[in-house]
Amino acid sequence: MGAVDPRRRVPRTDVVLADPRVAAAVDVWGRERVKAAVVGAQRRARAGEIDPAEVPAAAVASLPAGLPRQVVNATGVVLHTNLGRAALGAPAVEAVVAAAGHTDVELDLRTGRRARRGRDALETLAAAVPAAGAVHVVNNGAAALVLAATALAAGREIVVSRGELVEIGDGFRLPDLLVSTGARLREVGTTNRTSVADYAAAVGPQTGFVLKVHPSNFVVSGFTASVPVADLAPLGVPVVVDIGSGLLAPDPVLPAEPDAASALRAGAALVTASGDKLLGGPQAGLLLGSAEVVERLRRHPLARALRVDKLTLAALAATLRDPATPTRQALRADPARLRARAGRLRDRLVADGCPAEVEECGSVVGGGGAPGVELPSWAVALPERFAEPLRVGDPPVLGRVVRGRLLLDLRCVPEATDDTLRDAVTRVAG
Ligand SMILES: *Cc1c(COP(=O)(O)O)cnc(C)c1O
Repeated sequence: MGAVDPRRRVPRTDVVLADPRVAAAVDVWGRERVKAAVVGAQRRARAGEIDPAEVPAAAVASLPAGLPRQVVNATGVVLHTNLGRAALGAPAVEAVVAAAGHTDVELDLRTGRRARRGRDALETLAAAVPAAGAVHVVNNGAAALVLAATALAAGREIVVSRGELVEIGDGFRLPDLLVSTGARLREVGTTNRTSVADYAAAVGPQTGFVLKVHPSNFVVSGFTASVPVADLAPLGVPVVVDIGSGLLAPDPVLPAEPDAASALRAGAALVTASGDKLLGGPQAGLLLGSAEVVERLRRHPLARALRVDKLTLAALAATLRDPATPTRQALRADPARLRARAGRLRDRLVADGCPAEVEECGSVVGGGGAPGVELPSWAVALPERFAEPLRVGDPPVLGRVVRGRLLLDLRCVPEATDDTLRDAVTRVAG
């Protein structure tokens, strides 16, 4: 008895076209285009590259992505930039849907007059960080820095440590971003050590502000020294702190991660942060600081170009009001519970004839947050060959390959998604 000839099991074109997923794609892309995709997927199945059962999913996956697809994040990276960083919580999703129509984003319904755009989000943000005299929101963390540099230091100097001139990913470098605003960088100290005296010697009439940047994505260890915000505040110029990840207050789970409230209490004139990192909200740039500085930024002509969308404002307001976000839950996931879930999944997968095992692993925060921190976690381990079919499946499942095996880390997978995950794996194994 030889192996089954895969050609005989490849589904016929009309059968594949009748699959509901494929039929839905026909509505978007038209019959001819989808048919070509089906033929391509059938060819791959005949070549043994994919399982015949995967032909409908593979055909749909090979079409241009008409819409962003929801994926299962089993990578163990809580804030995965390629997967859209933070997943919004249910209240934020509801707020986005409600705001998608006409809304009172810039109107006071009681008086019928124009009101401050996005005041719900701004008031909630201000209330969350009482140390801030005023707050403002722009498109993302980089936009917050650009606005600060343009409004406070164009044609002047930004004093910054050589140890904090970081690249934030995809080739974007903060020093280039800052210089693009017309500010000059006045670099002080060395890669590993910078002292207050270094800053003091550089500060003068040309100084727009002193900048402190959270060194995302890396840690310096060994013979190192950096200057805390409290020691920079007395230099007599504004101190701007780019905390990056966006904790509003200290978080005991990530004790080394900087937060906005502490930086402001230490004397920062302005703090910039991302909304879609540790805050767990939509992409946004948060600016918190003294009323005088924030007002200068808000009134700068560039502020209009960085204005944030009504959907973002809605999601941000809802996130701030209900901080039990998926990001927070992932960070706080109890390893014992993750282990129990991995065990249950493994048992059911093995019962279905799938070679699954339970494996201890380590998750990371990602998005530049808490570099060097590993969160103890548990995964379902599968043979590496599962990685591609799971990625192109429906829903797409993303794990990480470690030493020839695919780990599905459960830390960032909501427990309610366990059955979906199991079904996806079973389909691939079948
Ligand atoms: C992520 C990050 C930025 C950029 O923020 P975006 O919201 O991605 O634009 C800037 N500075 C630091 C320190 C960061 O970690």
